[in-house]
Amino acid sequence: MVNISYYKKLLDTKALSCTELTKAFLDSAEKENPSLNAYISITKEEALKTAAEVDEKIARGESLQPLEGIPVIIKDNICTKGIRTTCASKMLENYVPFYDATVWEHIKAQNSVLIGKGNMDEFAMGSTSETSYFGIVKNPHNPEYVAGGSSGGVAAAVAGKLAAYGIGTDTGGSIRQPASFCGIYGLKPTYGSVSRYGIVAYASSFDQAGVLASCAEDTALVFDVISKYDERDMRSVGFKKSTYESLSGSVKGLKIGIATEDLMASDEFVNSAVENTINVFKSMGAEVEEIKIPFIKECLPVYYILACAEASSNLGRFDGIRYGYHVEDYEDLNDMISRTRSEGFGDEVKRRIILGTYVLSSGYFDAYYKKAQRLRESIIKEIDKIFKSCDIVLAPTVPVAPLKAGANLSPVDLYRTDICTCAANIVGLPSISVPAGFTDDNMPVGIQLIGGRFKEDVILNAAYAFEKETGGEYIKLSEMGCGV
Ligand code: GLN
Repeated sequence: MVNISYYKKLLDTKALSCTELTKAFLDSAEKENPSLNAYISITKEEALKTAAEVDEKIARGESLQPLEGIPVIIKDNICTKGIRTTCASKMLENYVPFYDATVWEHIKAQNSVLIGKGNMDEFAMGSTSETSYFGIVKNPHNPEYVAGGSSGGVAAAVAGKLAAYGIGTDTGGSIRQPASFCGIYGLKPTYGSVSRYGIVAYASSFDQAGVLASCAEDTALVFDVISKYDERDMRSVGFKKSTYESLSGSVKGLKIGIATEDLMASDEFVNSAVENTINVFKSMGAEVEEIKIPFIKECLPVYYILACAEASSNLGRFDGIRYGYHVEDYEDLNDMISRTRSEGFGDEVKRRIILGTYVLSSGYFDAYYKKAQRLRESIIKEIDKIFKSCDIVLAPTVPVAPLKAGANLSPVDLYRTDICTCAANIVGLPSISVPAGFTDDNMPVGIQLIGGRFKEDVILNAAYAFEKETGGEYIKLSEMGCGV
């Protein structure tokens, strides 16, 4: 399998120097990016500098760290000191941070080679990466389809082998959904596992950084590197053990809950992927039981009310004064701020700021914001209870198969596609999207394994076991009795 261990072996056995490996990735990225648009910036100079350092280390006979010399893509809402960080917005088109996000500090300390910054939905708001100011990201399986969003560029680069792995962020599904659309693994960790410091905030009580990779083993390896306590994030907890070392591949006796009634999708390929995965887990000795997910219908409105409210507050800082875009000609301060924000933000971002401001305004605060907060508390209590009797909840990642580019769904129809992912963010639970099959159009379909709080080791091991059992091969879902 072509994964991190494979590239690591090439370096360890000196079959390839790190500079050669880096050049190969840079060449592919430069060649493919004009069509895929996975990268907003390609960081050639930075990449070759790191590669040269790794080569010197190899020449000195020193052993390499787990991610040393491995090509990586970082989503463009994660601050990289001295490297443009745009959030795919005109507002930050020329913003160069003067500090590193903690998650990038960890990757950088490994001497992982940064190939570039990943395209995304503007300020991570979206599900197709079509709201990017830098243009839409194409799916490497078929350019007529979107790569998903908001971490679409990272998912497309990893699936298209333009980077070995990537770091994305997930507020309501933005790691898992594009991972599912692109046929790779995407882990959203427990809220608090990975530091949010230096990540441009969208909805702070939901935001989590995580991993996009080509197999479960790589996902665990990278998660172990980035999940450290950080005093600069007041909600940081970190993760105490190595998930990589706890990959046993055994799921005997593992209790898996499925919510057929609450979470089955309307798309038959997606349902077939779920059924097939259940059968594989059963054949490996896992115990599957039907469960109910309380308040599942409330999750979507709760997520969108609270996420928009938090976004409207977080994005208040883009006022044309401190940094970022600002208009040159204006009449007075008010005119400058309002024109800067009107010109600097795209439509979807503006829609959410308006929605968020509305639910926070006096007269509506109690009816929307407060009610959603109270519901969130109930959802957290009830969903946490599920994990007293289940180790994992298995569900679709997205209720629909990958979407065609330019499908032009209404905003609400697009929001609806987050129904399976946003519950994990509301509660703060870890969840991984795992490739589980292909549609008749050869587009990937993922399923999701949600775990209890700080049970990343459990879901990663289950993903690993499933991958081993199926040989990591894509299953044509119509051959499982679907879609024909
Ligand atoms: N699609 C969801 C939204 O638009 C999730 C985005 C995300 O996780 N960043 O809010």
